[in-house]
Amino acid sequence: MITMENVSKTYSNGVTALNDISIHIDRGEFVYIVGPSGAGKSSFIRLIYREAKPTKGKIIVSDRDLSKLKERHIPYLRRDIGVVFQDFKLLQKLTVYENVAFALEVIETSPRSIKRRVQEVLKLVGLEAKEKMIPSELSGGEQQRVAIARAIVNNPKVVIADEPTGNLDPDTSWEIMKVLEDINSKGTTIIMATHSKHIVNTIKRRVIAIEDGVIVRDQQRGDYGYEI
Ligand code: ADP
Ligand code: ADP
Repeated sequence: MITMENVSKTYSNGVTALNDISIHIDRGEFVYIVGPSGAGKSSFIRLIYREAKPTKGKIIVSDRDLSKLKERHIPYLRRDIGVVFQDFKLLQKLTVYENVAFALEVIETSPRSIKRRVQEVLKLVGLEAKEKMIPSELSGGEQQRVAIARAIVNNPKVVIADEPTGNLDPDTSWEIMKVLEDINSKGTTIIMATHSKHIVNTIKRRVIAIEDGVIVRDQQRGDYGYEI
C-alpha cells in the first residue's frame, strides 16, 4: 500500500526532517508512528498524501509513484487517502452533513448517492442525529468524528491521522480509537501519529518509531517506548 525507498526530506530552511527512510506498509495494516516532538512524524505523514515532496528517494502510495505524479493528478491520489488532524479542520459555517458531503461534491457524485453515502458514514461514526448542527455546537470528540466521517466518505484505501486524539480527553480518545479500529477492521489501512502511551500500549499494533529523522524501531504489536 505504501512503500518508501531511501526517502529524505530537507526543508528550504536547511532542516533535515527525514534522513534515508525505507519502509513498507501493507494493505489493511494499522500502524502507529511514535517519537519525540520534532522527530519527523508529521513530515513522514505529509509525504504520504503529497502535502510535501521528498528531497530524495521514492514513494509509492496505492500503486502510484509520487515522484511521477503530475500536479493535476494529486486530487486522484487524495481520493485514496483520508486525512484526520489533531485540530479537526472542519468548515465552521457548514453543518455536519455539509462538511461530510463537501468531499463528495467536489468529485461530482450524484445528489442521491451523496445523500445516501453521507448518512451511511454519519451513522458509522454515531452522529446521524446531529447532521444539522454546526461544529461549534459539538463536543471535541463529536467534531473529530465528523472529521473521520469526512475522511472516509470517499472509501479511501488509507486513513492517515496526525495525533487525532491530541486535543481530546481520555474517554473521548477511546471512542475515537473505536471508530478507527472499526474502519480498519473493514480493510482500510490506518497510519496514526500519536503521543498517547496509553493507547499504543493498550491497543497493540505495529509501532514505527522515528527519532531525528530516522526509523529507530519497527515492531509488530509494539510498545509506545517513551515515558510520556
Ligand atoms: P518546502 O521546503 O517543503 O517548500 P517550506 O520551508 O517552504 O517547505 O515551508 C512550508 C510551510 O511550512 C510554510 O508555510 C512554513 O511557514 C511552514 N513552516 C516553516 N517552518 C516550519 C517548522 N519548523 N515547522 C512547521 N512548519 C513550518
Ligand atoms: P514531528 O511531527 O515529529 O514533531 P516534524 O515532521 O513536524 O516532526 O518536524 C521535523 C523537523 O522538521 C523539525 O525540526 C521541524 O521544525 C522541521 N520542519 C517541519 N516542517 C517544516 C517546514 N515546513 N519547514 C521547515 N522545517 C520544518
